[in-house]
Amino acid sequence: MKPLVEINGIGMTYHSLKGETEAIKDINLNISKGEIVGIVGPSGCGKSTLLSIIAGLITPSKGNVLINGKQVSKSNSNIGYMFQKDQLLEWRNILENVVLGLEIQRKLTPEVYDNAKAMLHSYGLGEFISSYPRQLSGGMRQRVALIRTLLLEPELLLLDEPFSALDYQTRLAIADEIGIILKKEQKTGLLITHDIAEAISLSDRVVILSNRPATIKEIVDIKLTCPIGKETPLGCREAPEFRHYFNKIWKELDIHV
Ligand code: ADP
Ligand code: MG
Repeated sequence: MKPLVEINGIGMTYHSLKGETEAIKDINLNISKGEIVGIVGPSGCGKSTLLSIIAGLITPSKGNVLINGKQVSKSNSNIGYMFQKDQLLEWRNILENVVLGLEIQRKLTPEVYDNAKAMLHSYGLGEFISSYPRQLSGGMRQRVALIRTLLLEPELLLLDEPFSALDYQTRLAIADEIGIILKKEQKTGLLITHDIAEAISLSDRVVILSNRPATIKEIVDIKLTCPIGKETPLGCREAPEFRHYFNKIWKELDIHV
């Protein structure tokens, strides 16, 4: 089957008054439909740059990105994002926040509201439909942000360290929930994280990037034997293979403090 995303020979050099910064060098990667690919790499290596290129927000210096065989552009509406900051609008209630994307696309219908409410209910936010973002915890806000993205039915989800602003316990819980949602909705996703355990527990493959300029050091296929009855990202951290993957990725990452 043809991959959903084809990343072909991407290179990126930023030019500024201070000179040139080579952020990415010769990255090739295919992503199949329904696959979750984790990306880990040292801070400042070029991860967000790579995501912006895949999103069509910046044009690479070299190479191209195809989605369904077509070159990406800024106007691609089949890509959804989730960032560290949830970008909820404080003056809109949760339901109004969740339908915002479709409102901008002028696609608001009674069915959209019904879908939005159903999703909020099924993901534990039913009683917060008329609440305002400030009344929700950080983890709940990220869940709202995800539902807003999913309502647009994107073919590809780009997640740039979406949990890094959360405290550790919330982060574990929300990463677990979001992992379950992505699998249930059979989404294709690219997840950038600096948390190795998070990458292993949520991804089908983990791509390890080098220091800047980012190149692919290794791609690790993740196959976890999850404990029976605990087949969620969090439960799968108890799989016997988990430690092996963790050590392997940690070594490859080669982070010097
Ligand atoms: P990461 O997300 O892995 O932390 P980034 O992709 O944000 O890394 O940045 C990679 C490198 O490119 C950094 O050295 C950063 O300073 C540089 N960079 C990022 N955006 C720009 C820009 N708009 N102009 C110039 N340099 C940039
Ligand atoms: Mg970044």
